[in-house]
Amino acid sequence: MLTVEGLSSAYGRIEVLHGVSLAVAAGEIVALVGSNGAGKTTLLRTLSGVRPATAGRIVFEGEDIHRLAAHHRVARGIAQSPEGRQVFGPLSVDDNLRLGAFRRQDGAVRERLEEIYAMFPALAERRRTPAVSLSGGQQQMLAIGRAVMSKPKLLLLDEPSLGLAPLLVDQVLRAVLDLKRDGVTVLLVEQNAAAALAIADRGYVLEVGRVVHEGAGRVLLQDPKVKAAYLGV
Ligand code: ATP
Repeated sequence: MLTVEGLSSAYGRIEVLHGVSLAVAAGEIVALVGSNGAGKTTLLRTLSGVRPATAGRIVFEGEDIHRLAAHHRVARGIAQSPEGRQVFGPLSVDDNLRLGAFRRQDGAVRERLEEIYAMFPALAERRRTPAVSLSGGQQQMLAIGRAVMSKPKLLLLDEPSLGLAPLLVDQVLRAVLDLKRDGVTVLLVEQNAAAALAIADRGYVLEVGRVVHEGAGRVLLQDPKVKAAYLGV
């Protein structure tokens, strides 16, 4: 579904991604792990088109999209759930979700809203509640729900476990597995490497802007170097 070749990205003159290559097959959950500042968020933002690539190719379903504007990438089937959730606090749950689908027709939006509420029952009970009043876990569900309102083929999911208690991390990761069952392909960025690799089909380890390891999720979990560097073992 997605092939990234030699992708670089920079802030001003400072390059922070140095020729990253990776691939995501349809139906997979692929985890991208690595320490603070490795470039995980920058990579997701470059894939979604919020940041420009300075070199390389991003091929999505056979089309090189690296020069396409972000909203055109959404139309192709790529959606991003940003780090830190970034829900619209004063707006209701319902309105936050609707903002994830402003390109779609009214009837389709209503239908999709009900699908999202079926996926996240805690949100269904709080349709009129301002997002700011939700718990952290509910806000994360809302951020994911908003991203998948556009019915993406590929979800770029940035740090969904950030700041959540372990029980809620489990709930969020279970929701990611539900999305996979629903046919959504997921590229998951996580600092919680153990939890991410446990649900991922495959994973990549990013270190200072470069891919340094890749493999099946379970294999990376057992890799002594990965264990020492990222799993605190
Ligand atoms: P984290 O988990 O802390 O978000 P990360 O792996 O997602 O880390 P990035 O946020 O992509 O890493 O950051 C990669 C590098 O780019 C870091 O050196 C960071 O300081 C730098 N960086 C990130 N955002 C900006 C920005 N807006 N301007 C300048 N430099 C930035």
